[in-house]
Amino acid sequence: MKDVVCGMQVDEKTAIRRDNKGKTYFFCSKNCAQAFDKNPEKFARSA
Ligand SMILES: [Zn+2]
Repeated sequence: MKDVVCGMQVDEKTAIRRDNKGKTYFFCSKNCAQAFDKNPEKFARSA
């Protein structure tokens, strides 16, 4: 899975997950997940 915030490949088994509008996103770290939480629209578009 791709972390849409930083572009890293992440393992869905260990990544931090967020659900947004029916899609699940995966993040490498809390920092990336928090950045997504602040502005999900921005990052959801680049997924
Ligand atoms: Zn990341």
